[in-house]
Amino acid sequence: MSQIFEDWTKPYRVRCSDVGLRCNCVIFGMSEKKVMDESIVHMFEYHAIDPREMTSEMKSRIKQNIKESSVTVRVQHTLPKLF
Ligand SMILES: [Zn+2]
Repeated sequence: MSQIFEDWTKPYRVRCSDVGLRCNCVIFGMSEKKVMDESIVHMFEYHAIDPREMTSEMKSRIKQNIKESSVTVRVQHTLPKLF
């Protein structure tokens, strides 16, 4: 059994188009780091940009465009029962 609780939060997001790609994707994440990680995966899967070939300029452009989302979402956390 695990415990589930709900929370309302504002995720962070970055638009692919803000990074300079012709893409309508918006990448959401619960933290700036998560958005960064998800973006790198997205760049690789959708734009065939190898993370090792990604320039530091592109990375900083992603970082600069990570904004707090204006929407509030409900998230469910599942906690493993440790106690
Ligand atoms: Zn994209």
